Amino acid sequence: MSRSDRIVESVAGPMESVMIRPPGFRGAAFGEAAAGDLRVDEAGRRRAADELGVSPEWAFATQVHGTTVIRATTPGLLGEADAIFTTRQALPIAIATADCVPIILEGTGFTAVIHAGWRGASAGVVERTISELRSGGLNVSRAAIGPSIGPCCYEVGDEVAERFPDFSRRTTWGTTSVDIAGSIEESLGSVPVWRSARCTFTDTELHSYRKSRTKLRQVTVAWLPAL
Ligand SMILES: [Zn+2]
Repeated sequence: MSRSDRIVESVAGPMESVMIRPPGFRGAAFGEAAAGDLRVDEAGRRRAADELGVSPEWAFATQVHGTTVIRATTPGLLGEADAIFTTRQALPIAIATADCVPIILEGTGFTAVIHAGWRGASAGVVERTISELRSGGLNVSRAAIGPSIGPCCYEVGDEVAERFPDFSRRTTWGTTSVDIAGSIEESLGSVPVWRSARCTFTDTELHSYRKSRTKLRQVTVAWLPAL
């Protein structure tokens, strides 16, 4: 089933923003390069937090391209994981990417962020997160997929392509690629999905590890607003 009719890009409002806000979400923002690497750029994080109306004290994880899901109850670095969720109001949770796919899940009483590259996606990090949430009585109502490297540019070898048989594509220069974000959207089943159409590799306002071997990342943040 095609969901291309749902693909819309947020546009900058009257106040120029350095965060991409998926419409219809309670507490969700995807960073651009100009926002700063909000894991380590504290001034940038304070600026973003002010703009978003949240605390500058965010919960992060050490990302390892795995499927571990961690529950955040405090800010700070929580340990090794590629998915974080929280049921605590006003506690921002964040992950960092620069080609991998950033995902935000929202539902009643919780929010979650996921970092998924080809390793995490093929290992089922999104499905694992949804099932851990569900086992805690938390059901996903909507999902947002931020900018990642697109099938236009994500050249891969056969060992990666064969893990995504339904999402094998061609780069604009004619080599084998895969649509990781597309595979993630499919794994979300009937959950409504907002998806960015931007490609980190070609978009000059986004970090891409493939493009420049940068250590910098754009940061995705989600939060449950305080009542
Ligand atoms: Zn591209």
